[in-house]
Amino acid sequence: ETKTNLSVTVVGASGDLAKKKIFPALFALFYEGCLPQNFTIFGYARTKMTDEELREMISRTLTCRIDKRENCGDKMEEFLERCFYHSGQYGSEENFAELDTKLKQKEGGKLSNRLFYLSIPPDIFVDVVRCASERASSKTGWTRVIVEKPFGRDSESSGELTRSLKKYLAEEQIFRIDHYLGKELVENLSVLRFSNLVFEPLWSRNYIRSVQFIFSEDFGTEGRGGYFNNYGIIRDIMQNHLLQILALFAMETPVSLDAEDIRNEKVKVLRSMRQLKLEDVVVGQYKGHSKGGKTFLGYTEDPTVPNDSITPTFAAAALFIDNARWDGVPFLMKAGKALNTRRAEIRVQFRHVPGNLYKRNFGTDMDKATNELVLRVQPNEAIFLKINNKIPGLGMRLDRSDLNLLYSMRYPKEIPDAYERLLLDAIEGERRLFIRSDELDAAWSIFTPLLKELESNKIAPELYPYGSRGPVGAHYLAAKYNARWGDLAGDD
Ligand code: NAP
Repeated sequence: ETKTNLSVTVVGASGDLAKKKIFPALFALFYEGCLPQNFTIFGYARTKMTDEELREMISRTLTCRIDKRENCGDKMEEFLERCFYHSGQYGSEENFAELDTKLKQKEGGKLSNRLFYLSIPPDIFVDVVRCASERASSKTGWTRVIVEKPFGRDSESSGELTRSLKKYLAEEQIFRIDHYLGKELVENLSVLRFSNLVFEPLWSRNYIRSVQFIFSEDFGTEGRGGYFNNYGIIRDIMQNHLLQILALFAMETPVSLDAEDIRNEKVKVLRSMRQLKLEDVVVGQYKGHSKGGKTFLGYTEDPTVPNDSITPTFAAAALFIDNARWDGVPFLMKAGKALNTRRAEIRVQFRHVPGNLYKRNFGTDMDKATNELVLRVQPNEAIFLKINNKIPGLGMRLDRSDLNLLYSMRYPKEIPDAYERLLLDAIEGERRLFIRSDELDAAWSIFTPLLKELESNKIAPELYPYGSRGPVGAHYLAAKYNARWGDLAGDD
């Protein structure tokens, strides 16, 4: 331990993600004692900055948690003293060789492990990987690279990116991050399912009627639509975050909790999925809306978005897994910006109770009597199970009630940010929560034909007002598969 050194280089250190997420996560790991004794952090970007200026920049976003970290100020000073900066071009081997010299100085002849975090636009990923691996990789320990989405924009470009990365890196050096996999409730999904007798036996078409993966934001692109407009909500949220959660949800029981065993099962379930068809998709785009004297601009009114853009800011889709466990069960996804609420959740809707003795107590709408398990990933993490219950008193009146596990009540300690867990895993070589190449290929195969069709046929999105519940088309899509969106039922 004392003979090794860890160097973390944040490439694109001047950017938003580095400031908001990566440096604060590194500090939190340091504070919790999760970083090795000898570590060095480097920021790398083109912007000219001194070490002091970098420290000043990141000190503004480091936080002591609400649960009042002790000696946090001292710890912060200690942390900042280990942070350095090197300014260079992304495609310059010479600049990376200079970085290597500085890294070596800090490492002081110890065995060194090096982690590069690429927090940069995707068109320069390969340049950086080439320069870093040829001129700044570790000669004595491991070298790993964390890559942020987007991993291509369809099967071809993603395959091309993987082939280019593999010219310089082996598969086990590449850590493709999907920060949803670092979220507490997503990690807990497998615990809930595989370590409780009451769930896994129900986890199939026999008892589950539909599964829903819902992501909504209550704000639009707000002047930062340049990146988004090239991708759209399907690539930005569905093909990665929601599909990853779906794969974890639906996979068969892995042989063990080893990364390769879990990822093998995820690939299998992804490869059992049907390619998504246009008739099973609804796309939308938000338009301007005035509410309470305030005006919210529509997507195409964002100055960074072309006026005639047809990029979807909302999409709903019905996906199917053609295997024995899930035959015929609709997996519904919905993701959108500028909606009425902000949330991410998984909703499992169970079938009717056959021959329900209490049928007459539910009136005509038996759907209201089915059980639903909800995992709220954010905000206010929670797990609740909707059950039918007798209203106390004489007579027999029933209502829908919740068995409710609210994290803030049960676990008052603040939950670590997803980036903390993922960075720690990358440092420890734990690959379970990172996306393997074959998983990525399988994920793109499901969405690529649809994306091509949407784009070549210039399918116009259905407009919905900023702050609304999204296009009504989503409702009809669910209805087509005999389901209704749980988040719109109005009883949670
Ligand atoms: P960013 O601020 O736009 O870019 C990071 C840094 O890259 C910039 O500070 C800039 O540094 C350099 N850069 C920007 N545009 C460039 C260009 N056209 N050519 C060369 N260098 C350029 O990005 P970010 O928001 O931090 O995100 C970083 C990466 O994470 C991106 O790949 C993004 O897709 C992904 N991501 C971001 C978020 C998020 O919440 N922001 C979430 C998920 C994924 P210098 O000019 O100093 O070199």
